[in-house]
Amino acid sequence: MVNHCANPQCCKPLHYLREGRVYVFDVTRPAAGNSERSARRMEHFWLCGVCSETYFLEQVEDRTVRISPRIQRPVSTAVLPYKAPQSIAS
Ligand SMILES: [Zn+2]
Repeated sequence: MVNHCANPQCCKPLHYLREGRVYVFDVTRPAAGNSERSARRMEHFWLCGVCSETYFLEQVEDRTVRISPRIQRPVSTAVLPYKAPQSIAS
């Protein structure tokens, strides 16, 4: 079970699950060169309150989990120059 923040720069010990965000990922890896069926493995990850505001966790193709910064969306996207509507017949 998770006992500290998933951010390696932080590693804050987990005291209250209420704080921050818990992620559950399926980290089952296909057994290579092994005829045995790999057991499903769910892993819990926790980001503390501070880190979950700045980062989020995501799983990439090879089932590894990585921490990514939240993209701060610019408030105004691509402001186009305003063109006054032209009247057809003047
Ligand atoms: Zn943290």
